[in-house]
Amino acid sequence: MRRAIILVLDGLRRDMISEDLTPTLVRHAKSAESFAQHRSVFPSATRVVSSSLSTGCYPAKHELAGNSLVLIENGRLVKHDAGHPDFLQHKRRLTGRSLAMPTMAERLRDKGGAIIYSNVSPGAAYAHDPDGHGIVYHRAGSFGPGRTPLNDWPVDSVTPDSAGDHTLAQRFVSDVIRTRKPALGVLWLAEPDTSSHAYPLGSPDHLAAIKAADANAAIVLAAVAAAREQGDDILLLVASDHGHQTVAGVIDVDAELVAAGLKASAGSEDVLAVSNGTSALVYVHPDHADRVDAIGAFLRSRPWAGDTLGADRLAEIGQAPRHGLAFAVSMAATEEANQYGIPGRSYAAKPDAGKPDRMGCGQHGGLARFEQSPFLMIAGEGFAAGAIRDAPSSAVDLAPTALTHLGVPFDTLDGRPLQRPSTD
Ligand SMILES: [Zn+2]
Repeated sequence: MRRAIILVLDGLRRDMISEDLTPTLVRHAKSAESFAQHRSVFPSATRVVSSSLSTGCYPAKHELAGNSLVLIENGRLVKHDAGHPDFLQHKRRLTGRSLAMPTMAERLRDKGGAIIYSNVSPGAAYAHDPDGHGIVYHRAGSFGPGRTPLNDWPVDSVTPDSAGDHTLAQRFVSDVIRTRKPALGVLWLAEPDTSSHAYPLGSPDHLAAIKAADANAAIVLAAVAAAREQGDDILLLVASDHGHQTVAGVIDVDAELVAAGLKASAGSEDVLAVSNGTSALVYVHPDHADRVDAIGAFLRSRPWAGDTLGADRLAEIGQAPRHGLAFAVSMAATEEANQYGIPGRSYAAKPDAGKPDRMGCGQHGGLARFEQSPFLMIAGEGFAAGAIRDAPSSAVDLAPTALTHLGVPFDTLDGRPLQRPSTD
C-alpha cells in the first residue's frame, strides 16, 4: 500500500546536521535524497510553515499570514495570536474559511485519511486539519472527523520538549506506522526548536536537544524501515520547518512608529506592527492609507530593518495585502557568529507583553540565511538514495510531493512535486 510519512524536527538548522550531533540523520541521508537549497516560507514561523506544508501554498493563498497577524473585524484592526487553539475556528466564523486552501487531510478524506501528531502550538497543530477531515492529536485537544473530540489517548500530558517528543514518537510508531496505516501520517516534534529559543545556539543545552531530536527520529525511521520490509510503499519526508538566528537586539516597532509620529499611541488601532520573531508585519488601517508612504520611508531608514516590502511587492514573498497588511519587514541580519561560533544574527521585533524576547538565544521569522535553511530529506520512489539536490525546494513542495506519491490529483498549488522524472 502507498503511504506518506512526514517527520518534522522543528527548528533544526541544516548546518547543524553532523555525524556528532545527528548520527541518525547522517546515516539516513545515505538512503534518502537531500535538498541542499531547501527554504522555509515568510514569515519563517511554525504556524505559517504548518499551513504551507499542509496546503502546498504560500500565505497569499492559504491566508495564515503570520504566527501573529491582524484581521479587520467590524472595521477595526484586531491583532491575533494564531497559536491560540481557537484562532482558525474564529477566522472561519469571521471570514467564512479557516485556511483558504484545502489541506492534505481534506484531499485524503476518502482516500486513506490523515493522522497528525503535533507537539508544537495548538494553532500550528490544527493548521494541518482545521476543518476536521482527518485526525489530529495535540495536548490542547485531539479531534477526529467532524472535529469530534477524541479521548482515546492522554496526549494532554505530553510536554513540548525531548521527553514529550519521545512519548509522541513511540505512540506515532505504534498507532500510525504499525496499526492504522493512514495514507498520510505527520509527526511534528517540538525539539530542537524549544531549546533553540531557550538557550544560545551551540550551547550545551541546545546541542543536547539536537541529539535528543535525532534519537527520536531514529524511532520513526526504524519503524518505517520495518513497514517497508513488510511491503508498504512509503514515501518518507524528514524535514525541519525553519532554522534559527541569534537575537542581536530587540526592537519595539510599534514604539518606534509612535516616536516617529506615524502611529497615534502605543495602544492605537490606526497602525499595528505585529512581531513574527525576526520579522514584523505592519498593518495600516484603510482610513489612514495616506500615511503608508511615510511609514515605508521611515522603516527603510531604520538600521534594524532589513528587507522591507510594501504592498506592491508582497507577492514576491508569497504574501498579499489583505486586512490592511502594508509592509513585511525582515529584520536586519548579519552572518556574524555568536559566542559558540554559530553564525547568523538578527534583530527581533519585540513580542507582545508577557512573551519572552529571546535576547542572545535563537529566533526566526525572517528571510535571513540561517532561519531560511531548514533541512529536507526524502526517501522513496522518485528520489535517489544518497543524492544531494542543489535545485531550490520549499516547504510548499511537500504536499504536492506526498500527494503525487499517493496518486491524488491536485491543481493550483504554489508548490510542485519533487519526484525525479521516471526513467521507465
Ligand atoms: Zn518551528
